[in-house]
Amino acid sequence: MKKVLVLFVALSGITFLWAQKKDVIITNVRPNAPETLDKPYVVLVSIDGFRFDYAEKYGAKNIAEIARQGVYAESLIPSFPSSTFPNHYTIVTGMYPSSHGLVSNTFYEPVGMEKYRIGDRDGVEDGKWYGGTPVWVHAERQGMRSASYFWVGSEADVDSVRPSQYYRYKASTPYKDRVAQALKWLKEPPETRPHFITLYFESVDSKGHANGPESVEVKKAVLEVDKWIGKLWEKLQKTGLPVNLILVSDHGMQLTKNDQPIFLDGMADLSGYEIARSSGVINLLYAKNKDSVKIEETIAELRAKAEGKYEVFRPSEMPAHLHYSDNDRLGDIVVYSLAPYVFGNPGWRPSPGAHGFDPYQAKDVHGIFYAVGPHFKSGVKLFSFENIHIFPAIMEILQLQYDPERIDGDSAPLSPAIQP
Ligand code: AMP
Ligand code: ZN
Ligand code: ZN
Repeated sequence: MKKVLVLFVALSGITFLWAQKKDVIITNVRPNAPETLDKPYVVLVSIDGFRFDYAEKYGAKNIAEIARQGVYAESLIPSFPSSTFPNHYTIVTGMYPSSHGLVSNTFYEPVGMEKYRIGDRDGVEDGKWYGGTPVWVHAERQGMRSASYFWVGSEADVDSVRPSQYYRYKASTPYKDRVAQALKWLKEPPETRPHFITLYFESVDSKGHANGPESVEVKKAVLEVDKWIGKLWEKLQKTGLPVNLILVSDHGMQLTKNDQPIFLDGMADLSGYEIARSSGVINLLYAKNKDSVKIEETIAELRAKAEGKYEVFRPSEMPAHLHYSDNDRLGDIVVYSLAPYVFGNPGWRPSPGAHGFDPYQAKDVHGIFYAVGPHFKSGVKLFSFENIHIFPAIMEILQLQYDPERIDGDSAPLSPAIQP
């Protein structure tokens, strides 16, 4: 009997843990404040790694229809580095990565040399890494409920606030479940219905890395996600709510010269540095001992062997258009490859698709912006614009307050697309 009881307790513990990992996490049960009830809705969808030209190139009919009914941009210019974590967080904060602090997918906090890595759940869920104020934090603070079926930063206690409901990131979650949940949220009564919802799809990015942007695998992934976007938009319209759908990507995908990888460690003696490597493109070098390491000599040595394949700068001397300075997390030296070149390691070949590059050097890392709904005009094509400008548009649609002085974006680039 005792054994049975122990087994039962153990099993229910496992079930509880499993449920916790899989189920929605509720952080706030307060209803929407009365003054928010009539405010509009925004569903923000990210298709990771969806290059600016994929919809046309691969015949994504539903996304093309959204462009026809609403607005779209020639391309969405990612912030540098054009990688996943910095850019998702830029889109929801309106700040460049060096302003919000998520400076790369992997980096160190120089005081204490603590490392942030996208694969490390403790770090990803710890608000101390995240600066700026994401849309959902503003919303929650202003009495408006928000919900997330994945978004970088949504799992962390940024300023002690998370969306009212959110899911822990799990790549294997079927797209069907994600779309169904977004629609379910919008069917809640007005008091609990979230006004800001995020969704995220990753397969276009992962297929792009593994097979390159010109592959049949990417085409399939694009058409699969297009199918779900079509279903989502069809059902959103049927809700009868003033809901706006904004489709973005964090970056595009560059075909690389992965058969000619650059071996950074062979270019200079880097034993005096900790190196945070991301995407095969960005390397942040942190001197272990600033008194004994001669940073200028390392820079000269690295530059002498660059052969036009990579750039080397002190953070304070980075090209101004990258807005990648003024943050200690950048370390002492920034080394980034120039498309189509990527860094590798002996015994490991980089993948045929990569991103992270300077978006003003490689247009193939540009992403997408499509938007449709009552707050967007119909049939407007915007010039390429930087993704820091999306935040002010979302805030305006949701009628939320924020301090424009505290962000890098502004409302001008998107104003021709928004209904007066
Ligand atoms: P990248 O290495 O820049 O291509 O990053 C893309 C990967 O980021 C995706 O394949 C996801 O596995 C991962 N990712 C996206 N969102 C999250 C998240 N919220 N938590 C952890 N990993 C994520
Ligand atoms: Zn990405
Ligand atoms: Zn990627």
